[in-house]
Amino acid sequence: MRWVPSRKPAAAELVAEFQLIRDHFLRIGGERSDVALGIGDDCALLRVPEGCELAVSIDTLVEGIHFLPGCDPEGLGHKALAVNLSDLAAMGAEPAWVTLALTLPGVDEAWLGAFSKGFAALARQHRVRLVGGDTTSGPLSITAQVHGFVPAGSAVRRSGARVGDLICVTGSLGDAGLALRQILAGESVDETLRARLDKPMPRIQAGQLLRGTASAMIDISDGLVADLEHILDASGVGADVELTKLPLSGPVAAAVARGDDWDLPLTAGDDYELCFVLPRSRFDQLTPLMCRCDCPLTAIGSIRRGTGLRCLRPDGSHRPIARGGYEHFSNQ
Ligand code: ADP
Ligand code: MG
Repeated sequence: MRWVPSRKPAAAELVAEFQLIRDHFLRIGGERSDVALGIGDDCALLRVPEGCELAVSIDTLVEGIHFLPGCDPEGLGHKALAVNLSDLAAMGAEPAWVTLALTLPGVDEAWLGAFSKGFAALARQHRVRLVGGDTTSGPLSITAQVHGFVPAGSAVRRSGARVGDLICVTGSLGDAGLALRQILAGESVDETLRARLDKPMPRIQAGQLLRGTASAMIDISDGLVADLEHILDASGVGADVELTKLPLSGPVAAAVARGDDWDLPLTAGDDYELCFVLPRSRFDQLTPLMCRCDCPLTAIGSIRRGTGLRCLRPDGSHRPIARGGYEHFSNQ
C-alpha cells in the first residue's frame, strides 16, 4: 500500500470542527467532581476514587454492519453509549466518563443535533460525563469508550463459573433479533420490539447489584450462545441450558411456537441483557435482588463438567445449535 500524506485542513475547517463540538458535545452528562478538566484541551484530566479500579471498554458502530444506513440518529446516539455501558454493567462497574470518536461523511446539523440528543439523554440518566473525543471525516462510524469504577478486586469476570453453578439472565431474550427480522422482511414492527433494537437499556443497576453474588458475568451482545460460551471458555467448564426456561416476551414466544424457532432467543444479538452464574448456595440472594433490580432475573440452566454448551428440550434431547453470534472476519 502506498502512503499518502494526509491533507492539512484549512483554518476555516478547523473552526467549523470546534464549533461542531461546542454546539453538540459540550456539557453532555452533567458536572462531575472527579473531572478536573473535560473537553477543550489535549487531554481530559480525571480522578479515580481511592480504593477503586478503573473499568474501561470501547465499542465501534459501523454503518452497514452495526446499524442500517439512514437509521434514526437519536436512537444511534443512544445505542452508541448503551452498548458500551452494557460492558461496564457486565463487570459490575459504576459508569463515570465517556469519550467519543466520530467519523462523519459530512456536517449535517440536524443529524448531529439528534445524535447528540440521544447520546446525552442516556448519559444524563447514568451520570456519565463526555470528557473528550475526536471528530474526523470519512464513512460514518462511531466509537465510544466508557470508563467506570469498581471497588478494587470486586469486578465480576468471565472466568469465575464453577461446576454446579446456576446460569441466569436478566430481562428477556430475542426481542431485538425479532425486530430486525421484521424490519428486513418489510413487515410492520411492534413498537416495544423496535425500542428493544433501537434503544437497548444497559443493565447498569442489575450489574452493580449482582457484584458479590454473581461469580461470572457477561453482557449478551452477540446472542446467548456465543456470549455464554465466552464464560464457559474462560472458566474451563461446560453448561446445560433448558430451552423452556428461557425468558421470552409475548412476540418472541409466539415466533418460537410458530416454527420451533429457538434461534431468536439463542443466537440473535443486540439484546444487551446480562448472563451471569452464581453458586446454588447464593440462589436465595436473588429474590431480594430482584426487588431492587430494574428487570427480572431468570435461572435458565447450570454449569457442568466438560466443555461446550448443550441446549435441552423438555424431553431431555439436545437441540443442535445452528450458529454462534456475528463474526466480523468469518468469511476471510
Ligand atoms: P487534538 O487535535 O488535540 O486531538 P481535537 O481538535 O481533536 O484535539 O479536539 C479538541 C477537543 O475537543 C479535545 O478536548 C477533544 O477531546 C474534544 N473533542 C473532539 N471531538 C469530540 C467529540 N466528538 N466529542 C467530544 N469531544 C470531542
Ligand atoms: Mg483529535
